[in-house]
Amino acid sequence: AKKVVIKIGTTSISNDCGGLNEEFMKHVASQIAYLHSLEKEVILVSSGSIGVGIDLMQLGCKPREIPVRQAAAAVGQNILMQKWMEAFSTYDLNVAQILLTYDSFTSRLTYLNLRNSISTLLEYGVIPIINENDSTCVHEIEATLGDNDRLSAMVASKMEADLLILLSDIDGLYDKNPKRHKDAVLLKTVSEVTPTIESYGGSPSSTKGTGGMRTKIDAAKICNIAGCHMVIANSSIQNAILKIMEGEEIGTLFL
Ligand code: ADP
Repeated sequence: AKKVVIKIGTTSISNDCGGLNEEFMKHVASQIAYLHSLEKEVILVSSGSIGVGIDLMQLGCKPREIPVRQAAAAVGQNILMQKWMEAFSTYDLNVAQILLTYDSFTSRLTYLNLRNSISTLLEYGVIPIINENDSTCVHEIEATLGDNDRLSAMVASKMEADLLILLSDIDGLYDKNPKRHKDAVLLKTVSEVTPTIESYGGSPSSTKGTGGMRTKIDAAKICNIAGCHMVIANSSIQNAILKIMEGEEIGTLFL
């Protein structure tokens, strides 16, 4: 793969009560820096702003009200970017913040502008770091289910990426939620998203993450139409990104 979009889930980037897992961020930056040295084009999609904001504003764990979460996102986004900037500065790489809503893709003009600016950043060797603009999204559904899974697939599709990597707290897609069923079986490869595959989606068991597998399966459908492969893998695997790029079979590969 030449152009790759990497999405870091909430569960991977944040500690139990919202603070950022900075060690993990540094590890991600080191892998991306290595890919960069191989002339790969990497776009990062990072969740985590809401958790950081909740932490900073001392709102306790998990306030559910949407306006509070939107406020927390606005507070947290700065810190999230600052930490990414620090992580990448070790490798002399600049980062750029891009906040998107789903509307960014619906108008051809905004979408073309978006594509131009991301392409320009890549040309200049800057790492674009995308997040959903949680403080302005108007649809309640976006604010509650805003998960970055589908958003990252839309970015991958519009930027004509070859691969989308979703890093999560789980090894991949199982035939049922492995946190609830001990006998769940991990799927290594999914060649087509059938209704059976979709039924594995269920709803997320963690309170931190938002989309669970359902939104990841939706993302796979978007990627499939765009001719982009997608991998779901466990962020706790050492060098997961590099292993996937080298074709090692970790996680679930959607063809
Ligand atoms: P992220 O923050 O990385 O997007 P989520 O919490 O939204 O993570 O989604 C991952 C969670 O989805 C897993 O921890 C698991 O509890 C849940 N899940 C539900 N169904 C499945 C399934 N069939 N296979 C794997 N995970 C599942």
